[in-house]
Amino acid sequence: MKIFKKDSENFLSEFAKFLKNEGFIFQSNEIYGGLNGFYDFGPLGVLMKINLKNLWLEDVVFKEKNIYLLDSSLINSEKIFEASGHLENFYDNLIECYDCHLRFKEEEVKDKCPNCSSENISEPKKFNLMFKTQIGALGDQTGYLRPETAQGIFVNFLNVLNSTRAKLPFGIASLGKSFRNEINPRHFIFRLREFEQMELEFFTKPSESDYWFDYWLEKRFKWYLNLGIKEENIKKVEVPKEELPHYSKRNVDIYYKFSFGFQEIEGLANRTDYDLKKHSEFSGKDLRYFDPDSKEKYFPYVIEPSCGVERVIFAFLFDAFDVDSLNGSERIVLRLNPKIAPIKVAVFPLLSNKKELVEMAKQIYEELRTKFVTVYDESGSIGRRYRRQDEIGTPFCLTVDFDSLKNKDVTIRYRDSGFQERVPVKELEEFLKEKIK
Ligand code: ATP
Repeated sequence: MKIFKKDSENFLSEFAKFLKNEGFIFQSNEIYGGLNGFYDFGPLGVLMKINLKNLWLEDVVFKEKNIYLLDSSLINSEKIFEASGHLENFYDNLIECYDCHLRFKEEEVKDKCPNCSSENISEPKKFNLMFKTQIGALGDQTGYLRPETAQGIFVNFLNVLNSTRAKLPFGIASLGKSFRNEINPRHFIFRLREFEQMELEFFTKPSESDYWFDYWLEKRFKWYLNLGIKEENIKKVEVPKEELPHYSKRNVDIYYKFSFGFQEIEGLANRTDYDLKKHSEFSGKDLRYFDPDSKEKYFPYVIEPSCGVERVIFAFLFDAFDVDSLNGSERIVLRLNPKIAPIKVAVFPLLSNKKELVEMAKQIYEELRTKFVTVYDESGSIGRRYRRQDEIGTPFCLTVDFDSLKNKDVTIRYRDSGFQERVPVKELEEFLKEKIK
């Protein structure tokens, strides 16, 4: 693999090529010329996605009390978005260049076209970011692909409340695809037209919403740090009052420092009682909560931490990417937290032409592969095999050598330092469990 560095000017395109070659992320519809704003996840990328989603579920749902899961439909009736305000407000201002015909978000344009520098540009035009579709054989019903998972949660508020008999405070979490017809998708997988969101709507008494906002902000921020994002690359940014969305009392975004600057990877919002009130008004259903303590009915406030799976993966991959020198040669290494790394363990025989080494290595591989995502590799020199695993972030490589045959042990080689130690075969499972947990 060609070495390229983070500070190089064309880092992003090199990184995209690298992630394609390794089987993480592919341009969608590539053989037909590609579809802008859409990406597919390859064998390693999918494993990473699964790991991150599980880690989010663990943090937001399973380690918490009173959080319920919901999986709601991707296509929804126009009425939902009328009520939520998306039909009226989910717009970006679009500016078109009359010379090169590219289109940009208004914020990206300063008097001239960012692509060809022409001053022959349009006035800003309102552009709704929702994908519209026609439902049914006659196509007489208009539907929209959801631009966030949140509305599915609000319209199911009563269903979840009644079926779980939940009491405030409680949350409903959803994880699934969202769609936004972004004017200018870019920066690799940063801004997509189809992406997955992980969202929690946490319902509280209005008077307790500030407390829960801080609780979730701190918790989510720590999640990134605990999983290895470097402190200097992540920060919280308070959204100024005048820039708050129409439904929000307070917004704080979590920003990550990409090569193209600090950018939002997760947003936290106090959505107040806006959505439940609107859906009550538009549907005619009473979505208030009956408080058994005060015997009052009221609309709860909602705290929402929301992030995009692909953006979060991008931040973790970007943060983990490193080039260093080990035993006198340069290598690319993805220093991913073992919990996030797609492959946890690689097993090698020192030499592929020594039958006893191959047999013992294959036996170890067979035992480990049902417990951890494990690969077996016997091709090329042992040094090349280590490098291949370093590049895809595999934290542990196990090698079976001649001493292994006598001592029933293997060398474990650590990805980050190259340090090696011997571990008895019968202790391997416990040893790896301890390192990966
Ligand atoms: P932006 O300002 O970048 O368009 P936003 O403030 O509209 O984002 P939210 O509506 O707060 O984003 O969405 C919550 C999260 O969903 C974002 O922090 C991001 O991680 C993810 N997200 C939103 N839009 C996209 C997109 N087009 N592609 C990938 N992820 C996205």
